Amino acid sequence: MIRLKDVVEHHPVMTEKATILCADGWAWIIASFLNSVAALERRHGHEGSFRLRYADEQMAELTMRVDYGDARDDEAFVSDVLDALDSAILRSRHYCEVCGERGTLRCDELGWLTVACEEHTEPDTVQMPQQNWRQVGGRVYEIDPETGTVNARGER
Ligand SMILES: [Zn+2]
Repeated sequence: MIRLKDVVEHHPVMTEKATILCADGWAWIIASFLNSVAALERRHGHEGSFRLRYADEQMAELTMRVDYGDARDDEAFVSDVLDALDSAILRSRHYCEVCGERGTLRCDELGWLTVACEEHTEPDTVQMPQQNWRQVGGRVYEIDPETGTVNARGER
């Protein structure tokens, strides 16, 4: 299983100012996001611009803050990065934060939400209804939870 320290080692520049507080199960989701951003940096001519600043779990999904550096005014680049970011957020809703396996949205009696696989499900939680899509403005992201593939359509 890929761990957060592996992600930091693999992307030393992008993560040099990053505070990463989520658990290792989502490391592969952050790795996939940073790999996409690295490809986008090359495609748009912005190598070395992007920084991940913060990643954590909030309301049972990955939340990230990023810094576009000198690329901040390139709308095409920013828009492509936001697609990768929103795909990562949707992905986190479907994979266990502890181990990265397929998970379900769970709620405990205090209303605390988590995403957990069967093995890491806490005893006093119930499964919550879970959508395979999330909408940002007019743009809809849809995930195939079997493969983790996210497709997007519509204008942000
Ligand atoms: Zn798990």
